[in-house]
Amino acid sequence: MSKRIDIRDLDIYYGDFKAVAGVNMVIQPRSVTAMIGPSGCGKSTVLRSLNRMHEVIPGAYVDGQVLMDDENLYGKGVDPVNVRRKIGMVFQRPNPFPTMSIRENVLAGVKLNNKKIKKADAEELVESSLRGANLWNEVKDRLDKPGSGLSGGQQQRLCIARTIAVKPDVVLMDEPCSALDPISTLAIEDLIHELKDQYTIVIVTHNMQQAARVSDMTGFFNLEATGKPGQLVEYDETTHIFNNPSQKATEDYISGRFG
Ligand code: ADP
Repeated sequence: MSKRIDIRDLDIYYGDFKAVAGVNMVIQPRSVTAMIGPSGCGKSTVLRSLNRMHEVIPGAYVDGQVLMDDENLYGKGVDPVNVRRKIGMVFQRPNPFPTMSIRENVLAGVKLNNKKIKKADAEELVESSLRGANLWNEVKDRLDKPGSGLSGGQQQRLCIARTIAVKPDVVLMDEPCSALDPISTLAIEDLIHELKDQYTIVIVTHNMQQAARVSDMTGFFNLEATGKPGQLVEYDETTHIFNNPSQKATEDYISGRFG
């Protein structure tokens, strides 16, 4: 549980288009790492390459290595489906399965992985996952009601419960609060803070205050010009990035001078 991710000389392509170039980054376990930078600089692309979701797009591929602890996730014989089980992902829009109940939503990932699970174990897993996502108290009396009946913020926490139910090592979050109101956003931020005791968390956010609030480490991505690949400009402790960045481009971005 909770593993280190080591990104080495990663170039990421969509067919002929090199979207991201030369990323090197070590992401520590039991910490929150934020990726920030202007739109189109490749943050989501990098995130999706960490659990091999990138290559789902036809023609998309990567060059370089992503290691989890010491295993190369792009090594020969590595099953991408297995990688995605160990490295879960939460998306921008809460996407519970609309026809499934809250309980079924929590168990959906476990069942997709073809795991047979006893009823009593399933009940325990539903409760522990919903507790882990700070949602249990709000839904414990309506586990058989559809997940789509919850508020947006609750739906996002349900998706987080579904993600942690498969017991991943790493949780990736792609702008998980961008569709939520401020109160729900704070609830998710509190949750991220709690989850880092158990998981390695990587979050893409366009909200710099959010990055400053939730993350231990921040990577600032940028691109020199349209059509050029995005690059990791600076990666350091979040306090350093926001108070005393080493690069002018980082300073310009965090002080709102561009992007
Ligand atoms: P960010 O998350 O920083 O906004 P993205 O990772 O979404 O940036 O995009 C990085 C670059 O890759 C952009 O130039 C974008 O147009 C391109 N891109 C993203 N998704 C695709 C795709 N499915 N096919 C082709 N190009 C894509």
